[in-house]
Amino acid sequence: MGEGLGRRALLLGALPAAQGRGVMRIAIYWFRQDLRLDDNPALCAACAAADALLPVYVLPPDEDTQWGVKRLGQHRKYVLADTLKELDAGLRRRGSRLLLLDGDAAACLGELARALGATVYCAALAAPEEAQQLAHLQAAGVRVLAGWQDTLYTESQLPFALADLPLVFTRFRQQLQAAALSPVPPLPAPAALPPWPDGVAPGRALPADWLMPPPPDARSSFPYARADWRGGEQAAQARVQRWLATHGASYKRTRNGLMGPDYASKWSPWLAQGSLSVRRAARLLAQHEGEQGVSEGSDWLWFELLWREYFRWLMRRFGRQLFLRHGLQPPCPAPGHDAEAFARWRRGETGEPWIDAGMRELAATGFLSNRMRQNVASYLIHDLGCDWRAGAAWFESCLIDYDVASNQGNWLYLAGCGTDPRGSRRFNPARQAAEYDPDGAYRALWSTP
Ligand SMILES: Cc1cc2nc3c(=O)[nH]c(=O)nc-3n(C[C@H](O)[C@H](O)[C@H](O)COP(=O)(O)OP(=O)(O)OC[C@H]3O[C@@H](n4cnc5c(N)ncnc54)[C@H](O)[C@@H]3O)c2cc1C
Repeated sequence: MGEGLGRRALLLGALPAAQGRGVMRIAIYWFRQDLRLDDNPALCAACAAADALLPVYVLPPDEDTQWGVKRLGQHRKYVLADTLKELDAGLRRRGSRLLLLDGDAAACLGELARALGATVYCAALAAPEEAQQLAHLQAAGVRVLAGWQDTLYTESQLPFALADLPLVFTRFRQQLQAAALSPVPPLPAPAALPPWPDGVAPGRALPADWLMPPPPDARSSFPYARADWRGGEQAAQARVQRWLATHGASYKRTRNGLMGPDYASKWSPWLAQGSLSVRRAARLLAQHEGEQGVSEGSDWLWFELLWREYFRWLMRRFGRQLFLRHGLQPPCPAPGHDAEAFARWRRGETGEPWIDAGMRELAATGFLSNRMRQNVASYLIHDLGCDWRAGAAWFESCLIDYDVASNQGNWLYLAGCGTDPRGSRRFNPARQAAEYDPDGAYRALWSTP
């Protein structure tokens, strides 16, 4: 059981019988990292139980971290705003709309729930801050029904107890594959939603700076200013289907690419916002294999989705421990952090063209290939001697696919403090550049900010 994610929060499916005939049953649906109507079991449970339903999103705070960087950079704000607009449009098509709030989530939801006499429904999340929000809400006397729904499999399907989660990815994958599990089937979106309860004041609008598109950059490999790359569930599912049909089979060969929109699936921003359910993505992948046959590429996609799965269960199992400098591998590495080197790394001014190209791409577009993420992270940790948590914070600020479990898990892994701690995770920049950018095209593309 992940830290703070107590059994009390996992009550979905155990709803009490009607709460009194003739009495209005009011629910709040708190959208978190599940910004979709499709395959959202917690939302479906709220719709089934309530006469009136208030869909709410609480804007995340725009605050500084201990590393002197904002938690929410401009790319993230813009993509999140776009996703919220799409979510609101989907709700309106079904007779409802989204209420936007800001401030401390537990405090403002608690106040609203008490005023309405409402039960709060939401997705259960394992990261410590998110788990704590739920715990605070419950401690304030609010009835909360939260469902775990962002993994391919449920905890009871896993072929091991969570306490025995393998600490090596390969073992996790092999055990899951040997168990031949089927991902949980996705649910359709509700056809209609219960109306808003009476007397709710309109919420706030999206902050003006969230609506300001960062300057478009024609070099971007995630061109989110284009209509077919927009936020929201419709664009997400269209991308999944289109990309599988055109590039799915060749994915194993192209996935280490660095430039262009199609070398990899680019599903991650939609998965991270939750506008794409991983169970829906799995269903579309299985359908693709049913129609086109299993290919090397489709097979490798399952493998990558299992990495995502693994880091989610890891967060559920270890919670706060994944945020400590030594992670899962005490004793602590020697303390040390070079703030000046960290700043040069962020600006793409380390003097190492391969690394600087990656850092410029990240800052200019909010996206970076997996190959370059590994390289720039390794360089910060092993060449510049910085604290890996500072790098993780910069990724959190920039990445339009920022996802706490995947980000924390990958950084820890590269720092040698997470799972698979054997061997060095140091990437040699010269060798990597020669192998993955032999003609220097990527470095040339990003030779300027
Ligand atoms: C230091 C570091 C930080 C990272 N931070 C994030 C993050 O914040 N959010 C995030 O979604 N991914 C993160 N990743 C993982 C990976 O780089 C991205 O998921 C991937 O590049 C997204 O592009 P794609 O959708 O085209 O991936 P594809 O290669 O097409 O893979 C398909 C899907 O599999 C999953 N996946 C693939 N590789 C990984 C991986 N190593 N770990 C977890 N899931 C994976 C993703 O959901 C991805 O969308 C990080 C990797 C590193 C090395």
